[in-house]
Amino acid sequence: MSNDTHEPQLEQNPAAGPDGLRLATRLQHAGYQPPAGFDSVQPATHRASTVIFPNVAAMRARDWRHKTGYTYGLHGTPTTFTLEARLAEIEGAAHCMLCPSGLAAIALVDLALLEQGDGVLLPANVYGPSRELAERLLAGLGIRASLYDPMNPASVEDSITPRTRLLWLEAPGSVTLEMPDLRGLVAIARRHGITTAIDNTWAAGLAIKPFDLGIDISMQALTKYQSGGADVLMGAVMTCNEALHERLLYAHMRLGLGVGGDDATLVLRGLHSLALRYAAHDRSARRIAAWMREQPEVQVVLHPALPGSPGHAHWVRDCSGAAGLFSFTFQPQVDARRVDAFVDALRLFKIGYSWGGPMSLAVPYDAATMRGGAWPYASPLVRLCIGLEDPDDLIADIAQAMRVALR
Ligand SMILES: *Cc1c(COP(=O)(O)O)cnc(C)c1O
Repeated sequence: MSNDTHEPQLEQNPAAGPDGLRLATRLQHAGYQPPAGFDSVQPATHRASTVIFPNVAAMRARDWRHKTGYTYGLHGTPTTFTLEARLAEIEGAAHCMLCPSGLAAIALVDLALLEQGDGVLLPANVYGPSRELAERLLAGLGIRASLYDPMNPASVEDSITPRTRLLWLEAPGSVTLEMPDLRGLVAIARRHGITTAIDNTWAAGLAIKPFDLGIDISMQALTKYQSGGADVLMGAVMTCNEALHERLLYAHMRLGLGVGGDDATLVLRGLHSLALRYAAHDRSARRIAAWMREQPEVQVVLHPALPGSPGHAHWVRDCSGAAGLFSFTFQPQVDARRVDAFVDALRLFKIGYSWGGPMSLAVPYDAATMRGGAWPYASPLVRLCIGLEDPDDLIADIAQAMRVALR
């Protein structure tokens, strides 16, 4: 038979199957049911936009606001509900909602709680994109962002106006690693009736318990330790407060901040080894930070668990561990060009953003510009994220890079 029309030959006029339906229909209605009695270790990955209701009455009865049933993929699937429940359990939260990235989770908190004329306070060492979001996009909506000195709670008091609604906390700042007095900051916010939200990415739900400290909202970039694989982006917003939850959930729905089932599955896998990995990152980072401190080329090592590091006493009081993250500066005479050469000379440490994954990373930062000049060290800061390699190999790598770049 010739085919000079170039039409596809397959199933042009398919016969009906045993159930009376044609192929195009049968392909969509395969009749899959999850296997009963199949209790695997990992929950199934459910992917959905549409969720099918048994009848119209059931469709009308289900309400996404209460998460009692499934209504639409954007409003949650068994996979995302499972992840939310596990994260809430780890953090001690009553409610959790997932966002497509950590930054989307920050934006959710801002947009859910702030309106035109309101003020928001951010620590001067806040995660950079969060600051830009506030100073550019929120400013465009008529919301006023002010920075406070995280190590001087009185500077918060000075910035509060009757329209200040939200105080962001970050412990520690994820580049300069100062650990603030969370209890003191929360007390000030309480006194003024201001909602508090912490970027709790560093603690990964483990090292700091924000709800025990009276913080209202905890946000995390699951992209970091919860995932652990450096291969997925996701964020979470958690709270114990019902009224705040309702506002957050409404904004979450109307901003369309759902996550896919495959990504949720990756994070669920990561959670099994979260505590073990976190402890290993912590152990290695402290060991390497202590070694760095002994090197004559190094001026300062910033790691909240090291005595003498800014906010160390707050770390001792409020934290049960530390992330595998620290920063340092070389002596003042080491200029930016040689700092870049040091980072380029590292072999095991890769150059890249983010942290919490298996590989160690290094990034040079111009902290003086980031902090508007209020920064005491002349040589650029290098942040190291310690991965899961053997710490002795990482120390040897740093030592060889210093020999190459600083001689
Ligand atoms: C990475 C990070 C974020 C943002 O997470 P993404 O998933 O990359 O958007 C927010 N806060 C802190 C402290 C982070 O380190």
